[in-house]
Amino acid sequence: MQQELFYKVPKNILNKGSGFLSGYSHSLNPYTGCAYGCSFCYVRQMPVATFREGEWGTWVDVKKGAAELLQKELTRAKRKEAVTIFMSSSTDPYQPVEHEERITRSLLEVMVENPPDFLFVQTRSPMARRDIDLFLHLKHNIRVSMTIETDREEIRKHFTPDAPAIRGRLKTLELLKEAGVPTQATIAPLLPSSQKFPDLLKGKADRICIDDYFMGDGSGGRRTKNLGIYAKYKELGLEKWYEPMTYQKLIKRFKRVWSEEQMYVSREGFLP
Ligand code: SF4
Repeated sequence: MQQELFYKVPKNILNKGSGFLSGYSHSLNPYTGCAYGCSFCYVRQMPVATFREGEWGTWVDVKKGAAELLQKELTRAKRKEAVTIFMSSSTDPYQPVEHEERITRSLLEVMVENPPDFLFVQTRSPMARRDIDLFLHLKHNIRVSMTIETDREEIRKHFTPDAPAIRGRLKTLELLKEAGVPTQATIAPLLPSSQKFPDLLKGKADRICIDDYFMGDGSGGRRTKNLGIYAKYKELGLEKWYEPMTYQKLIKRFKRVWSEEQMYVSREGFLP
């Protein structure tokens, strides 16, 4: 999908952690909008998207001067409280525009100089491997979480055709872990996957987190229902995967390969 880029100078860059992220003092979004345009993305229904003309996934705002802003706001925030940051809650920090704009990298450089108490990096992009050098500077107070919703590429294409292929994400996760960066494989939202999925992830991340629409979309599954995602399961004849108890079956499957201490469910996997 083609994106239109806009360059904006934001007034602030750190936002207060709230709702699902209330365990964090702040959230940090290097961009507004997201080129991956996942069909199930609940940000589609938020004011940031509904007040825009173009469809979610077709536009991205680049936050100019983000690093300078963060420098100031981080120093100020650290004087008041322990600063725990979730990057990012409503965009992907490593979407394609980051290749050129390097906003995410510039924010990490600020945090290397002036570390927050904890940083959680959430992405679907293999590009995260570019910043291993910076992650390592923060390795005692960072976790990098790679979303891998399924091991079945045809399922990934059905639900998120513009997101990166699974193979590249797995490779990056492996590289991060090998380098000594604390990692998490985040199966969220869990999509139909194969029996081999737990083995495929084994050894590639320190831990996993399983989440679904019913626990993780911030509205008990209502937002996802409004997006008409059920129809996408029906098209594949896989409606059984769209049920509130499916995550328990997946947990059972993972328990055969992963220890309980390495497994997290929904919000607990995203806490600092
Ligand atoms: S990568 Fe995340 S923010 Fe981007 S469209 Fe997908 S779910 Fe939404």
